[in-house]
Amino acid sequence: MITDSHVHTLHFSGDGRMTADEMMKAAVMRGLESIVVTEHYDDDFPHDMEGPMIFDLDDYFSAFSGWSESAPKGLDLRLGIELGYQVHLPLRYAELVTQIPFDSVILSNHLFDGKDPYFFRECYDKSKTSLHEEYIISLAEMVEHSDYFDILGHFDYIVRYSPLADPVMRYRDCPEAFDRLFSALIRGGKSLEINTRTIQKLRRAGVCDTESFPDPEILKRYRELGGYRITLGSDAHESGSIASLFEETTQYLISVGFEYNSSFLRRKEILTPLRTKL
Ligand SMILES: [Zn+2]
Ligand SMILES: [Zn+2]
Repeated sequence: MITDSHVHTLHFSGDGRMTADEMMKAAVMRGLESIVVTEHYDDDFPHDMEGPMIFDLDDYFSAFSGWSESAPKGLDLRLGIELGYQVHLPLRYAELVTQIPFDSVILSNHLFDGKDPYFFRECYDKSKTSLHEEYIISLAEMVEHSDYFDILGHFDYIVRYSPLADPVMRYRDCPEAFDRLFSALIRGGKSLEINTRTIQKLRRAGVCDTESFPDPEILKRYRELGGYRITLGSDAHESGSIASLFEETTQYLISVGFEYNSSFLRRKEILTPLRTKL
């Protein structure tokens, strides 16, 4: 089974609902050989939250070291983080990723016009194409200004809370913006995450199974421009979602021309063939 490179626990992610122990047990049950804990770190998060959106890195590293010691035999537990981007944060994050020995760093944008669509849905008053175009441009700008990460998190985050009957993001919504984003990713040697939580959310919203995968035109264009790095991540917040939909998503990725899954160990890429891991 492919590495799950995106998982949250309740110890450091405010919205996590599993303990590290539950996460590791579930990973073994799912047949995973490796899993990356990527707690949320959203510095200067603009909304009032019950708990803090950041944590002490040394506390995280010492907790992680304890989890590693108690990890089931044969499970490769890796240290990651999911950084929440804002334009003033690159210098801070570039310094942060050097403070403890991370294996893998995800960079995500959870905000649209300074607000998380999870809390504020007014962004969906815009036309779908402007919404998608503006969000993808914001990701392109983010990648252009950041070199401290390995994986671009959920490029389709903006569709998750869409009230539309057809919330699916398509290449034709904003081809130039996608091209700009993919060029920046490829230039920087970064990986594009395929986030199965988004696929799951679309299915729950009534999108049919085949349409719920990222638009094949988006992925084909990424391939065409020279992008071959993709990273599967479940974005699980509870143990039942670990590696969710990995089998069918892997088949789908093979069908649109991808050969490898990129995961990261001590910030170095490991390419795992998609075919032999089924
Ligand atoms: Zn996220
Ligand atoms: Zn996440």
